[in-house]
Amino acid sequence: MDKIPPVELTQQYRAIADELLPAVEAVISSGRYIGGQAVTTLESSLAQFLGCTEVVACNSGTDALYLAMRALDIGPGDEVLVPPFTFFASAESVSMTGARPVFADIEAETFNLDCDRLEAAITPRTKAIMPVHLFGQPANMTAVMEIAERYQLAVVEDCAQATGACWDGRQVGAIGHVGCFSFFPTKNLGGMGDGGAVSTSDPAIAAKVRVLKEHGSKERYYHEALGVNSRLDALQAAILNVKLPYLREWNWRRRSLAATYQALLADCPGIALPQGVKGGQSVWNQFTIRIQSDGSSGERRDRVKQALFDAGVISMIYYPVPIHLQEAYADLGHKPGDFPVSEQCAREVLSLPMFPELTYAQQKRVAEALYEALSPSAAVA
Ligand SMILES: *Cc1c(COP(=O)(O)O)cnc(C)c1O
Repeated sequence: MDKIPPVELTQQYRAIADELLPAVEAVISSGRYIGGQAVTTLESSLAQFLGCTEVVACNSGTDALYLAMRALDIGPGDEVLVPPFTFFASAESVSMTGARPVFADIEAETFNLDCDRLEAAITPRTKAIMPVHLFGQPANMTAVMEIAERYQLAVVEDCAQATGACWDGRQVGAIGHVGCFSFFPTKNLGGMGDGGAVSTSDPAIAAKVRVLKEHGSKERYYHEALGVNSRLDALQAAILNVKLPYLREWNWRRRSLAATYQALLADCPGIALPQGVKGGQSVWNQFTIRIQSDGSSGERRDRVKQALFDAGVISMIYYPVPIHLQEAYADLGHKPGDFPVSEQCAREVLSLPMFPELTYAQQKRVAEALYEALSPSAAVA
């Protein structure tokens, strides 16, 4: 039987190839490959989609985070609160500015910041909070904004995995002071290469990001700041302009697939299913279950992953090592036990195949393989 991949991008391409190819051809034959109409169109349609006043496109989600923090004047001597259980770039972008990532643990049920623990991590050097809407699930933005207001902190939303997710009726990325998006191919709105964007309703932040992403210049060859080269290619923008109108439909499909997984796996022993949060609407970039660990290793989870693989189902571990224990951050001096919930999640998580074109038959095979792996006797009976 065919293997079921964790993500599959060519079906989506084939479904919209009739629109994509002419859009790509138009850019190629225009001779204008950096900036131009395709990029400005994407910026304004994404701003409209999100309900904020401005979007600035850039080269990646990582750059979006970096540029957003630079625009907020975050740098050496400052601290930014980040969850330790997320993709590495959330913390890395803080370090790129010269500031220090300070970790605050997550809740196992939502994989997002545990806002009850956030205040304890605030120091006089704290400048911002970076909630990450991990796996498409919005973080509790009501609590984050309340704490930020009380301590006068900026809020930089990491929306890389959550384009289209809502909290309390508002799009993520339009709630904090600034939102950061990634168009990496496997994200909910994915290009065919790298790309990213910063969203904000603060014109001063938007203006600063525009300058910083162009070598610190408003006018070419006149530089007012030390910036970077971080522009979105016209080709990527043209592709994203074709895809954006489909995003709601694709996200709706992901929600429906998540509901199907929830129903199929409701009786599966020894696992925790991802919980939808009250007040939030996830866009399910990942459907991530937890295989309860029996000790301090991820051995049980790894066995289940192997059993799924043997049954032709390819699952993924996002993420095997929490950021505070990554070698690159050895200088921060953290040790195992510092953020126990993040460490537990790193031992227990398993992301099942999830992409809008996944079929019911494939989901059934995933579920059967999981039941078989977790209660072999029941499956045989
Ligand atoms: C993908 C991702 C990023 C970085 O985006 P890139 O476009 O790959 O640079 C940042 N944070 C999270 C949570 C991500 O998933």
